[in-house]
Amino acid sequence: MTYDRLVCANCASPVSEGRCPVCRASRERLQQQDGLFGGLTPAALIALLVALIAVAVLAHEMATVA
Ligand SMILES: [Zn+2]
Repeated sequence: MTYDRLVCANCASPVSEGRCPVCRASRERLQQQDGLFGGLTPAALIALLVALIAVAVLAHEMATVA
């Protein structure tokens, strides 16, 4: 994430510096989002791969039946 470039609406300093409670809350929320996507992306890729393999197998079976 590029939250280091975000400027706080409350204290007008970079959110990444965490100078006020609003900054710290925003920073924490964004970091949690980062962690969520970091854990989600590999799992999503594996799920996509499994789905593609399933489709390929189904298509192959359909081709051999027909
Ligand atoms: Zn602030």
